[in-house]
Amino acid sequence: MKLNPVFADRPHSIFPTMSALARRHGAINLGQGFPDEDGPAPLLRAASDALVAGPNQYVPVEGIPALRQAVAAAHQRFYGIDLDPDTNVVVTAGATEGLAAAFLAFCAPGDEVIFLSPFYECYAPQAEAAGALCRFVSLTPPHWRIDESALRAAISPRTKLVVINTPHNPTGHVMDEDELEIVARVARDHDLIVLCDEVYEHMVFDGRPHLPLMAFEGMAERCVRFGSAGKTFSVTGWRIGYASGPASLIEPLNKAHQFLAYTSPGHLQQAVAQGLGFDNDYFGGLTRGMQDRRDLLSDQLSRAGFDVLPCEGTYFLSVDIRSVGRDDDRAFCAEITEHAKVAAVPVSAFYHPSEENVPKHLARFCFAKKPGILTEAARRLATYFR
Ligand code: PMP
Ligand code: GLN
Repeated sequence: MKLNPVFADRPHSIFPTMSALARRHGAINLGQGFPDEDGPAPLLRAASDALVAGPNQYVPVEGIPALRQAVAAAHQRFYGIDLDPDTNVVVTAGATEGLAAAFLAFCAPGDEVIFLSPFYECYAPQAEAAGALCRFVSLTPPHWRIDESALRAAISPRTKLVVINTPHNPTGHVMDEDELEIVARVARDHDLIVLCDEVYEHMVFDGRPHLPLMAFEGMAERCVRFGSAGKTFSVTGWRIGYASGPASLIEPLNKAHQFLAYTSPGHLQQAVAQGLGFDNDYFGGLTRGMQDRRDLLSDQLSRAGFDVLPCEGTYFLSVDIRSVGRDDDRAFCAEITEHAKVAAVPVSAFYHPSEENVPKHLARFCFAKKPGILTEAARRLATYFR
């Protein structure tokens, strides 16, 4: 039987695959990206109170008013961006479903979509399911900065949209103003939509700012931004995300969303609405806590003999595995999971199967874990590679 090759011919996602391998070998799981401590107690209590108080029925497709208002207020508070909560915001089932809704709503069959490789795994299958054709612009380690001529070279008359992700998974790169200006210029010149995956917006380190492209000149009308309560409140299992942008794009996105997830759970939306109002101590604490963990893992992996690449944000850092005599990232990740009992994710999994010259010398570690766990993981790697 001929099924849809977009899904039928693809392997399973690398993240649950590595998590399953980690469980099988009793390994510390620094592969799939999720924190090992749940989000703040007041947020969890707000969710359980709302669940018990009910109602536990369908909520509005676009999300409960309190959460849309809180998302709009957070745009104003953190970035000075003005949004109408009724027309510029949709609550989605995680950023993942919001992205799927965007590709389905914005791409007609044959449209081209530009990805900056490496890129987060769900984008390409979602775009292809919408009938779009993927084009790739490769970024180069260790700085992964965008190059204007390479981006321009990927544009064709069929180009509909560009996807950016800052802070960037898997590299930890945070786009600066110059890079975002490049994307803005190209998008304005060619009348493109830009999907801005900003799920790690509150994990930007060393005093750098997080800059939403939406705030750049002429970009409010063509950017859709994706945020994730899973990331911002360390509740990745809740599946609450938010998409924001101009009404002309948010309305069709919401129409796709109504036929995908329909809604996400109301009690969790209520809790996230409260969470977005937490004071600066919460958001600053999240950033500082992750930065400390980055420093810890980075130091200890360096001491264990790895070349660690720069990491400016997210909860991931990558290492050059040639520093321990390996050159195949998939084999390396399987080897350390099985033998050193520490799991990581191969960076080559963040490229499209059709791409050539994919780097195979990088592995990604997640540092959103308790300090003692990070120390133990580094100790195991040091012992194994000694
Ligand atoms: N984009 C990026 C870059 C991610 O790393 C992730 C998730 N882990 C997502 C999107 C999806 O976020 P969510 O869990 O809210 O669906
Ligand atoms: N985004 C997480 C990661 O990069 C995983 C999320 C998932 O497994 N869907 O590891």
